[in-house]
Amino acid sequence: MNTVRVRFAPSPTGYLHVGGARTALFNWLYARQHQGVFVLRIEDTDLARSTEESVQVILDALEYLGLDWDEGPRKGGSYGPYFQSERLDLYRQYVQKLMDMGRAYKCYCTPEELDKKREEQIKRGESTKYDRHCLNLTPEEEAKYQAEGRIPVIRFRSLDEGTTEVDDLIRGKVRFDNVAQVDDFVIMKSDGMPTYNFAVVIDDALMRITHVIRGEDHLSNTPKQIQIYEALGFPVPRFAHIPMILGPDKALLSKRHGATSVLQFKENGYLPAAMVNYLALLGWSYDDSQTLFSVEELVEKFSLDKVSKNPAVFDLQKLDWMNGVYIRELPVEELFAHVLPYWQRAGLMPLEVNQELREYSLRILKELQPRMKLLAEAVELARYFFDDQYEYNPEAVDRILTKPQTIEILRYLADVVAEAPQLDEEHLKPQFKAGMEKFGVKMGDLMQPLRVAITGTNVSPGIYEVLDLVGRERTLKRIERTVQMLAERG
Ligand code: GLU
Repeated sequence: MNTVRVRFAPSPTGYLHVGGARTALFNWLYARQHQGVFVLRIEDTDLARSTEESVQVILDALEYLGLDWDEGPRKGGSYGPYFQSERLDLYRQYVQKLMDMGRAYKCYCTPEELDKKREEQIKRGESTKYDRHCLNLTPEEEAKYQAEGRIPVIRFRSLDEGTTEVDDLIRGKVRFDNVAQVDDFVIMKSDGMPTYNFAVVIDDALMRITHVIRGEDHLSNTPKQIQIYEALGFPVPRFAHIPMILGPDKALLSKRHGATSVLQFKENGYLPAAMVNYLALLGWSYDDSQTLFSVEELVEKFSLDKVSKNPAVFDLQKLDWMNGVYIRELPVEELFAHVLPYWQRAGLMPLEVNQELREYSLRILKELQPRMKLLAEAVELARYFFDDQYEYNPEAVDRILTKPQTIEILRYLADVVAEAPQLDEEHLKPQFKAGMEKFGVKMGDLMQPLRVAITGTNVSPGIYEVLDLVGRERTLKRIERTVQMLAERG
């Protein structure tokens, strides 16, 4: 009977933001931990801004994170429909009920009139709440407004005195003064659409939501919502308002700070497990030391009482580090599966990968794995393994290939590579040492030009590993190509 039922209720007016994803995650963890039900409800009553495409994007983002829902779009459930736009009759029914009880009324004031009143209230130094002009209209006054063609909104008649207390699972008891802080807010707009504060209550009540876990930006809406629950005799759920997410400059996290769309993170190559781990730590911690949590561990260890009241700061470097940790933990075959689409999109890999290419790729990834933070980086890190026509990094060329004797050194190295019985440290190193003597230079003065010649850059896995992967024939061609390039530069 006491099944935990939580919900994530996004408005489909854009992409899924990391803040929304964190809210979804906390709800999901809470549901899974309590063997409860995670409901996904789409709050699409803002017809002008809601799009089907955005619904799709949100569902895709939740799927990428592995946050599966038990009831909602595509799943159904006993408390549907799960799109608010399909629940309009329900809202109208409850609006009528409140009107019949004297707890809601029609308001004919126009936006211009309301603006004017607000200005005057500000001038007089009063709070800017609705003045209840339309609360007790006579039938004649109403008829007059209707004759003028005015279409009313419906307002909730809020309480005239006392306080409304939100007993928040994170923030403790928060009291709101009914007179100063809750006015007769609109519950249904003139076009017949419910407002957020009204629809959310009807839905949470009818969907038997037991815990409302959402962003702290909604805390100030909660007394309004509680008054509606109480007016309609619905049990009030528990509330848990989770802290906001800030950027490094302590301003609310926004596009200004870089990517905030979950699917953008997916695209950049963050593994779902790393993303989930990182999001869980935005406002929650287990103890002072543990930062790495598998999803199973999060389900076990998450708790609302360890959610902070203070805002969380989004730290991209920490996320990158964490993603690197998760990448390194992957079996190389799995890493290959993750990286393959990036390589294919970049044209480095055909759609059909044969056994030989697959094995070559796995060997490459073994070398790259310790250096990767993002899956997307695998494209540039691996380009020269697949593509012989790689471009030279101009900075590397200027710094390394313009030194005296470079062409002679490269020619010497080509001979070494051509003659070595095998391209490994054991066979190459003695020859490199001989080269040092011959040219009167340090080891780096041989290795660095060789590296730039066969990779185009000065950062790569160990030179012996690279030589082994690129192979003798291609190495010789690459050295030749580089010598030519240098000769042409003069
Ligand atoms: N649709 C609302 C939002 O996206 C839901 C808020 C709530 O969870 O009550 O902000």
